[in-house]
Amino acid sequence: MDLKSNEPFWLVKNGLLASYPSLKADEECDVLIVGAGITGSLIAHQMIKDGYKTIIIDKREICNGSTSATTSMLQYEIDVPLHELKEKIGILGAVESYKACSKSIDDLKKIAVEIGSEAGFTKKSSLYFTNEKKDITYLYKEFEARNAAGFRVQWLDEKQIQDKYGLEHTLGGILSEQGASIDAFKFAHELLDFNFKKGLQIFDKTKMESVKYFKDFSEVATAGGCKIKTKRIIYCIGYESKELIKDNFVNLKSTFAIVSEMDDSNISKLSETLFWNTDEPYLYMRTTDDGRLLIGGGDEDFRNPEKRDRMIAKKEKETLKTLSKLLPEYEFYTDFTWAGTFGETKDGLPYIGTHKKFKNSYFVLGFGGNGITFSVTGMEMASHFMKNEEHPLTEFFKFER
Ligand SMILES: Cc1cc2nc3c(=O)[nH]c(=O)nc-3n(C[C@H](O)[C@H](O)[C@H](O)COP(=O)(O)OP(=O)(O)OC[C@H]3O[C@@H](n4cnc5c(N)ncnc54)[C@H](O)[C@@H]3O)c2cc1C
Repeated sequence: MDLKSNEPFWLVKNGLLASYPSLKADEECDVLIVGAGITGSLIAHQMIKDGYKTIIIDKREICNGSTSATTSMLQYEIDVPLHELKEKIGILGAVESYKACSKSIDDLKKIAVEIGSEAGFTKKSSLYFTNEKKDITYLYKEFEARNAAGFRVQWLDEKQIQDKYGLEHTLGGILSEQGASIDAFKFAHELLDFNFKKGLQIFDKTKMESVKYFKDFSEVATAGGCKIKTKRIIYCIGYESKELIKDNFVNLKSTFAIVSEMDDSNISKLSETLFWNTDEPYLYMRTTDDGRLLIGGGDEDFRNPEKRDRMIAKKEKETLKTLSKLLPEYEFYTDFTWAGTFGETKDGLPYIGTHKKFKNSYFVLGFGGNGITFSVTGMEMASHFMKNEEHPLTEFFKFER
């Protein structure tokens, strides 16, 4: 599957940060991680920390899947609002899922410090706002639900939003303390490099072609004709999991992003906050650590990569029209536009767990707008899986839910 258009900003900005060899001989390990994007990199970090002989493979150059296209807003706020998630899965699952995403942001910060990351992890607040009268009641209900669950939130009215951020025509919003942003492409590279030096074996351009499952181990055949004997497999293959697992568990969407030229002085009021609104699909924006405004949204059902990429120019126009209502005085000069594919689930939650058709295996599929924070939660869950322990979130993130 073609996961993204050409020229996602991070790929151009960072270039080819590292390249690893492909697998050329048979190997053996405790755990094989399939997929070296941000998810596989985080899971590899955990596996090396837990002391396992770990191999990670990717059929592309590493981090060249969705991780190169992401806009990397790190939010505890899941695509499905807390008050609606409570109705869908019960209060315990809903609040624990939100709390897990909140903890992930703090965990990611600790990892960034631990590995000496230069990927621009920046703590930010987050504003969930509306410009639609019809959404005010719904948004206030969400504010009350978050407050009741103990999240540190504040209600801002139209004037407060205008004074603080210069955004026009908003009618109110929930300001949360917890949030962050990062360059996930660079961060994943850094994680792999850090763990490579600690014994992680990394092979790119190495495609898992087929697997034979035995009682206590599996044997993976690669497209290059090599075999990897492994006790456990952890699949971190992102949206291409839809090609491997035949269940109807995720809807693929096309999504679009644009980033401005560097323009620090004109966007300084926006630089400490992540923004998203109640539109469907929602518009979101943040600044980058090199002083650009990054905006995303315009989601459509995914049909094929050609159709997705043909829409880029139209989506740019629509997004900038919305932006001009919010920031009428601001001149946005586009530097890069791109499109990516992402997955939406019925409850906004990821699939992290075992699957009955894949023995000795675990999936970490951080779908939705919180893909990255869910992948951080996946580290702890995968660690439990390796020790045959249950994790409290298994119930809410499992395939058969
Ligand atoms: C435009 C856009 C904006 C986004 N914004 C946000 C955001 O603001 N915040 C957020 O949290 N999330 C966001 N997301 C989602 C986020 O990007 C994803 O959750 C995340 O990148 C997924 O990472 P991954 O490592 O799971 O998948 P990927 O990066 O796609 O990595 C999976 C890897 O598996 C490899 N692979 C697949 N099959 C095989 C095989 N058979 N053998 C070997 N290797 C294989 C692929 O080559 C790929 O490199 C966004 C996504 C897009 C597209």
